[in-house]
Amino acid sequence: MVERFAPSPTGRLHLGHAYSALTAHDAARAAGGRFLLRLEDLDAGRVRAPFVEAIVEDLAWLGVLPDGPVWRQSTRARAYDAALHALVARGLAFRCACTRRDIQQAVAAPQEGAVQQSPPGAAGDWGLEGPIYPGTCLRRPPAPQATTAWRLNMGAALATLGAEPLRFREIGRGPQGQRGIQTVDPDALRHGAGDIVLARKDGAAAYHLAVVVDDAAQGVTHVTRGEDLFAATPVHRLLQALLGLATPVYRHHRLVRDDAGRRLAKRDDARSLESLRAAGATPASIRANLRLGPPPDTGAPSAAR
Ligand code: GLU
Repeated sequence: MVERFAPSPTGRLHLGHAYSALTAHDAARAAGGRFLLRLEDLDAGRVRAPFVEAIVEDLAWLGVLPDGPVWRQSTRARAYDAALHALVARGLAFRCACTRRDIQQAVAAPQEGAVQQSPPGAAGDWGLEGPIYPGTCLRRPPAPQATTAWRLNMGAALATLGAEPLRFREIGRGPQGQRGIQTVDPDALRHGAGDIVLARKDGAAAYHLAVVVDDAAQGVTHVTRGEDLFAATPVHRLLQALLGLATPVYRHHRLVRDDAGRRLAKRDDARSLESLRAAGATPASIRANLRLGPPPDTGAPSAAR
């Protein structure tokens, strides 16, 4: 069993991260498996170097120690390029010059013909990453010299699949209590995800592509993460199928909320592990606060015991 925790170093870790990391780490320890740490640091505009060190330190304080080197996605461009090119070579990706604004305008006022050619976007569906892409650059490819992102051609991608539906196993729970074998609905991918971005205009791989490439490359068997990412899992399952990658088991978990019921965000400094620690919290009190039992007894010394 290989578990992983994959935070983005764009802020200090808060209780929500602690819940994910401890859940994954406990599961790996209980099963005698491995626990890996991967820093999802592809968003150069938001990543800050001090957060990288702080994440490793905060986790060590909690008793969460990775087995093996910490991976950084910023060093993995070649692997993501190879995956992207495999999709491009099969005609499953297309260049897109649209700005966010172009997309919003196209969705608000569909071009003539768009309704017939691209019903999902033209209908103004809302997807994983904003409005469903209205297909503008699919209908009219950008000039060769244009700076472009790459998008998945969702229609073409779904057309390559066989009759057997895509499935994944959920051992935690989705936002509606989903558990057990989940069947991916192609229509939900078409209307709920659409032509998702695979690589951004700055050349960096997008989250969905990087996450599946790395989970496979690290031999991850169990993905533990917040239920907010449950909706992204069908896209990950599709990319795994297109790229011939193994599918891990998924364990989505509840989100940790503040007293007003809002999910914690990086801006909630008061809930950062750093501030909680400064206010006297201990790894054991953090576990209790998160309603996690004591760490599994592996016979090894642990900071949290
Ligand atoms: N990097 C993502 C985040 O910090 C998590 C990705 C994942 O677990 O798949 O929200």
